[in-house]
Amino acid sequence: MYKRQSFSYGEEAGVPCLEQGHRGYSYLYDNKLLVCYDMNMRATRTIRIQLKPTPEQATLLQQTMQEYTDCFNDVCHLADTEKISNGLELHRLTYASMRATAHLPSQLICAARVKATEAIKSVIARRKKQLKKYQQLQKQGKAQKPLRLAKTPQSPLCAIRYDARSFRFERNSRLVSLVHVQQPGQTRNRATIAVKVPPYYEQYLTAQWQQESADLIYRNGMFWLHLIVSCALSQTEPSGAAIGVDLGINRLAVTSQPRFFGGKRIKETNNRYFRLRRSLQGKGTKSAKRHLKKLAGRLKRFQRDANHALSKQLVSSCQPGDILVMENLTDIHERTKGRRTQRRAMSNWSFAELQSSIAYKAAYRGSHVEFVNARYSSQACSRCGHIAKRNRVSQSEFSCKHCGYKANADVNAAYNLATRAKSVSSGLSVKQPLVSVLRV
Ligand SMILES: [Zn+2]
Repeated sequence: MYKRQSFSYGEEAGVPCLEQGHRGYSYLYDNKLLVCYDMNMRATRTIRIQLKPTPEQATLLQQTMQEYTDCFNDVCHLADTEKISNGLELHRLTYASMRATAHLPSQLICAARVKATEAIKSVIARRKKQLKKYQQLQKQGKAQKPLRLAKTPQSPLCAIRYDARSFRFERNSRLVSLVHVQQPGQTRNRATIAVKVPPYYEQYLTAQWQQESADLIYRNGMFWLHLIVSCALSQTEPSGAAIGVDLGINRLAVTSQPRFFGGKRIKETNNRYFRLRRSLQGKGTKSAKRHLKKLAGRLKRFQRDANHALSKQLVSSCQPGDILVMENLTDIHERTKGRRTQRRAMSNWSFAELQSSIAYKAAYRGSHVEFVNARYSSQACSRCGHIAKRNRVSQSEFSCKHCGYKANADVNAAYNLATRAKSVSSGLSVKQPLVSVLRV
C-alpha cells in the first residue's frame, strides 16, 4: 500500500515524505485480516534545510555534485550497454577506474553506483511492462506506433545521497559536515557548513530523532539538504477499545463512537473539479489538455490536504492504545455502487491514501490498526446481525427489518467493522455506539 517516495535522477522529489514511514508497515495478510503495525516501527520525517556555504565551499559542493553525476551517468551507461544490473558486478567493473580519475571520496563513488543500479533496475522493470503492454496491443491489432522503450537513465545533475558516515548534522552548533571532492595534495575532504533551520523543524532535531541519511540538492542557485530523521514509535498498551472507521461516499470517514469526518465542502469542491474536468475532456483542444494537466495536479493536492487534515482530526479523537478497525480496501469500489450521482461523488477519491494516512498517524500516536473484511458491513444489523439489503433504507438511514434497530447507516457500518476485529473476538470490548436505539 505504501510506496516509498524515491528521488528520480537529476531532480528532487516534488514533495518530501513528511508523513510516510521510510521503513513502511509490514502488512501481514491472512484471509480476512491484515495487521499493519510492526513492532519495530519507526516514524520518519524529511527536513528541508538550506545550506549557507561560503563561496569556496559552494564551488567544492558544485564540483562534488558534478563528479557524482558523471559517475552516475557512466555506471548507468555501462550497465545498459553491457546488460548488467548486479550491483557487485558494477562495482567490480567501475570502482577502480573511477577512484583513479574522479576526485570523489570512496563513499560517494559507491553511493553514485548504488543510485545508478537502482535507476537501471527500475528502467528494466519499466521496459518489461512496456513490452508486455505492446505485445498485448499487437495481439489485439491495435499497435499503431512502433514500440518505444524507456531510455538509459542519464542526469544533468544528480542529488547526492549521503549516508550516516558521509554527513553529520551537529544539533548544538547547527552545522552540517559533508564529504566532498578531494584535490591532490589536500588532506581534508569534509566541509563544515552553516545551515538555516526553519523553526517548525526544531522539534525533529532533538536527540530522540535519529539522523538516517541526507540528500544534497542544488536548485535555483541554492543548496538544500533533505535530512531524513526517524524516531521509535511509542508502544502503548491496548486500551481495550475498538473503534470502527467506515470510509465512504457520504462522509469520507465515520467512526463507531460516532464521529463524522469530511463533509459537504470537500464533496462540493471535489465535484466542481470533476465537472470542470469532464467539460475540458469534451473539448480536446491543446489548451484544454494543458488545463487538464494542471487540474489533475490541483485535484491531487486538494485530496492529499483533505486526507491529511481529516486523518489528523480522526486520530486525535481517539485515545492512544485504542484499536482502529478499518476495512480491507480492495472491495471499497464494489461497495460504493450507489446511485449514479453518488457513485460519481467520491469514486475518484483516494481512499487508499486516506487509509494509509490514518494508519500511519494512529501508529505514531500509539493506537493500533486492524484491517478487516467489510463484506455486508453496510447491510448487516450491528445489534442482531440480520443481513438484508432492505435494512439500508436510504444512503444515510439504517433500519433493521428483524429487530427494529435504527441508526445512521455509516455508524452502523463502522460498528460492524469494530466487532469484526480479531482483537475483539479474543476478548476486547467495543465501545457502544451512542446512537438512539429505537425499538419497534
Ligand atoms: Zn437487527
